[in-house]
Amino acid sequence: MAASHSLDTLIQALRRLPGVGVKSAQRMAFHLLQHDRAGAEQLSRALHEAVGSVQHCARCHTFTEAEVCATCLDPARDATRLCVVETPADQAAMERTGAFKGLYFVLMGRLSPLDGIGPREIGLQKLMERATDGTVQEVILATNFNAEGEATAHAISEALKGRGMHVTRLARGVPVGSELEYVDLSTIAHALVDRR
Ligand code: ZN
Repeated sequence: MAASHSLDTLIQALRRLPGVGVKSAQRMAFHLLQHDRAGAEQLSRALHEAVGSVQHCARCHTFTEAEVCATCLDPARDATRLCVVETPADQAAMERTGAFKGLYFVLMGRLSPLDGIGPREIGLQKLMERATDGTVQEVILATNFNAEGEATAHAISEALKGRGMHVTRLARGVPVGSELEYVDLSTIAHALVDRR
């Protein structure tokens, strides 16, 4: 393909990004090497540092550089409510509404059997332990309103109800098929108030 081993390696590495095919990867590599060497250096350093320092919060699974994240450690949060979201971006969307004062559990994905993502990959066992710690009284399922998000909410709901937990789901004000991350704030806030 390319006339340089290093360039080939870079293109292969860029192809690991979601949605990036060989053409896009080539364009990115050529751009960085031809027009933005400083940007390439910055990208290289940022990746190296993030991979070395970012880990998962021991309590909620979100990304953090500490053992436990700042949200989980915040004494002002309502520890009796636990909101389950798919991604840190969805958590950020919930936070922006200002309507939720409880704590979170971030699945870092959603059930997708065809992609090999099962209960273990979304940390279902860890969520069970977290939700049944004796402090949590309500688990609010805020997975996305598409087929996989609904299936994930259903599986979690069944597992938690089996342990006698009170489980609610964001109300249907959120458009069907939508990713929470892209839903406007007042819609999410209303869906939270109207949860059942
Ligand atoms: Zn946390």
